[in-house]
Amino acid sequence: MVKITSIRALEILDSRGNPTLMTKVALSDGTTGVAKVPSGASTGIHEAVELRDGGNRYGGKGVTRAVKNVNTVLAKTMSSVDPLKQKSVDDTLLEADPSKGKGKLGANAILSVSMATAVAAASHLEMELFEYLRKNVISKTAKYQLPVPMSNVINGGAHAGNDLAIQEFMILPVGAKTYPEGVRYLSEVYHTLGTRMIKRHGRMAKHVGDEGGYCGYGLKGTIDAFEEIMGAIEEAGYTPKKDVVLGIDAAASGLFKNGKYAIDGKNLDASELLEFYLELEKTFPLQTVEDPFEEEAFADFAEYMKKTRIQVVTDDLTVSNPEIVHRAIEEKAGNALLLKVNQIGSVTEAIEAATIANKADWGVVVSHRSGETGDTFIADLCVALGTGQLKTGGPARSDRVEKYNRLLEIYDVLDGKCGYPGSDFRTAWRNY
Ligand code: PEP
Ligand code: MG
Repeated sequence: MVKITSIRALEILDSRGNPTLMTKVALSDGTTGVAKVPSGASTGIHEAVELRDGGNRYGGKGVTRAVKNVNTVLAKTMSSVDPLKQKSVDDTLLEADPSKGKGKLGANAILSVSMATAVAAASHLEMELFEYLRKNVISKTAKYQLPVPMSNVINGGAHAGNDLAIQEFMILPVGAKTYPEGVRYLSEVYHTLGTRMIKRHGRMAKHVGDEGGYCGYGLKGTIDAFEEIMGAIEEAGYTPKKDVVLGIDAAASGLFKNGKYAIDGKNLDASELLEFYLELEKTFPLQTVEDPFEEEAFADFAEYMKKTRIQVVTDDLTVSNPEIVHRAIEEKAGNALLLKVNQIGSVTEAIEAATIANKADWGVVVSHRSGETGDTFIADLCVALGTGQLKTGGPARSDRVEKYNRLLEIYDVLDGKCGYPGSDFRTAWRNY
């Protein structure tokens, strides 16, 4: 039986220049797996806990304690685990830190080992990671499908230094016939948008935010941003709604203060904000809205669900936590789950959250974090789960583009023999 012979973590930087972990798992046959852990800015209060050092070093954000936990406690604990059994790998990791939120050893430490072990196992079996996760971990055999990318072309909220309240303005290339064609749509609209905004607002508009979308310099608010994107879609030669639809992540916890949401110079209560979303749906081809209300507002999410037919995605509300996903399903507080592996801290639990969501006929959007690395694990996970949707930022900056590129590589590995859900992005997982 192949064994884990060493686990070694080190402190590296993420795309915002903050410390994170890179962990390498080596197996007895000489194969290895590496994983780098992402980190959010608009984090949910119930997310698994990133262990940071505090103190002065890196402004308190160092991860040397988490690194040490990998190199000592976890390396020792994992030496007797079968790396080809991801469930026992993750069970062992969870036993090593049964604290709520994995705060004792650090969810960042635990996740790095969980992911790196899966990568090493795939390598040992000479399988692509997506193939290993799908066949050996998730046990699905249906045809592969590549996701519709939800690409964040204008950044706001906690991800950019502008006055836009909405955190992410996204485009979805639903009219494309294949994933590579979808990527071309994204890139063409993105560049057209940049040129338009520079013409209108000057060269400052060229700058980008944390997730590779434009920083929105000069934009007056939500409607202005939508109109700019609509103009770019048309100018790039596409038809809004038929070829490209729109999405937002309001990340509304960040707008919420004293019972009201601060947006576009107004302070709206939940029902006024709901009316605003419904108005946006009427005016623009808006088809997916994430975190429309703050992270405890299950009832407001449910109210929105009663009044809309579009995709309502829960992120901070559910934090990829199987227990909370159950609650959101029961309370009909959405119809799609945002899946961020580091919100929960292990590969098995993330897959469990996705499975619970799909069983309830919810869509699943696999997602990056605003603080990323070049790691492409989520691209493989998305194909393995067959969710049909991936959110990984603007088509610019390596931390975002590496995921788009890994999917192009997967398309090539599959010789193009894979589905692309187009406008069925929310429900396409049903066939895969
Ligand atoms: C999000 O809110 O969906 C997101 C990707 O941002 P962050 O990683 O900052 O939570
Ligand atoms: Mg979000």
